[in-house]
Amino acid sequence: MAPAPHPPAMPDAQPLASGGIAGGDCRLIVDLGRVAANWQRLQKEAGAATCAAVVKADAYGLGMANIAPALAGAGCTTFFVAHLAEGLALRRILPAAEIYLLHGLTPGAEARTAEARLIPILHRRDDVLAMAQFGRRVGPVPVGLQIDTGMTRLGLEPAAALGLTAADVAGLEIKLVMSHLACGDEPEHAKNPEQRQAFAALLPQLLPTLPRKAASLAASHGIFLGPEYHFDMVRPGVALYGANPHPGHPNPMAEVVCLQGKILQIRHVDRPRTVGYGATHHLHGPTRIATVSIGYADGYPRALSNRGFAYLGTMKAPVVGRVSMDLLTVDVTALPAAATLPGTFVDVIGGGADAALDRVAAMVDTVPHNILTGLGRRPERIYLGCTE
Ligand SMILES: *Cc1c(COP(=O)(O)O)cnc(C)c1O
Repeated sequence: MAPAPHPPAMPDAQPLASGGIAGGDCRLIVDLGRVAANWQRLQKEAGAATCAAVVKADAYGLGMANIAPALAGAGCTTFFVAHLAEGLALRRILPAAEIYLLHGLTPGAEARTAEARLIPILHRRDDVLAMAQFGRRVGPVPVGLQIDTGMTRLGLEPAAALGLTAADVAGLEIKLVMSHLACGDEPEHAKNPEQRQAFAALLPQLLPTLPRKAASLAASHGIFLGPEYHFDMVRPGVALYGANPHPGHPNPMAEVVCLQGKILQIRHVDRPRTVGYGATHHLHGPTRIATVSIGYADGYPRALSNRGFAYLGTMKAPVVGRVSMDLLTVDVTALPAAATLPGTFVDVIGGGADAALDRVAAMVDTVPHNILTGLGRRPERIYLGCTE
């Protein structure tokens, strides 16, 4: 039987580019067509609001150079990154996009920021005054303002935002007023309506001095809290990459990533013995163990030792023993021997329900963002293209 390929999203999907080790023993398949479809799905959900895309941290580790053009091709015109350096890199990729910097102004980088037409989202009064002064010298500069409505992370206190006078902001073109939800992924949390109301109440009060063009509160999960959370713009990240932004409901997003490792060896065991470091898994009767070339160095969480699952198509087998740096071991006794020959690739993140991104994250008590950004540099990256 031929090695099981990842089911392609469309029959003519083509690898566009790759990173990692070409022809290596493990690979990360990133479906750009599905990223594009996910953005379109979120734009539909957002209704009249603009759906932007968050591509910080190298598009959550998936490769901004490939992800951003796919999103732009789908119709996305507004992007968010965190650092100035990320914005400069994205500007080279997308010359015409509107690019916001979530970390705001890097002190002293007013000119570099403006020259690259990057829009810093200011969160400190001093930065507002510095950028405004720069704007009064060179002509109006576009900025955003981040207001803290309860996250206690980045942002101006509402009172500080209200304290900005027309003279303070002369020289600025304020294109966005944003805040961020602390508990968007817990739909029933009382903090969601609290933050929404605080944000909504603030906006009209800001209007006399600030020419508000767009207000934004929701990230991926916020979009599914309902239209009253959409304001003028939504800023999804992780949902674009396949995570479920609607807890308690079937995932409306298409799966984007699949991490695959090659079976290097099949071990036939017929007497009691243990598997892997720490001898944490005991074999009692006849067993077939597949040793797979994926480890924690590739981003497969070591905490999934004795807990994770590997898929061969729709067939599932448990990870047994400890996950090591380059290898993991799977009990394939229940699977047909012909389906588990050395050389066969198995899916360990993505590809089946118990290996789904959200499931993997939940099993190790973290968020899917953390799993994606933790994917290793070693797997060969295979990008399936957009067909439009
Ligand atoms: C990272 C981030 C987002 C995107 O969050 P997701 O949960 O990935 O959708 C949106 N807004 C801000 C301020 C962020 O830091």
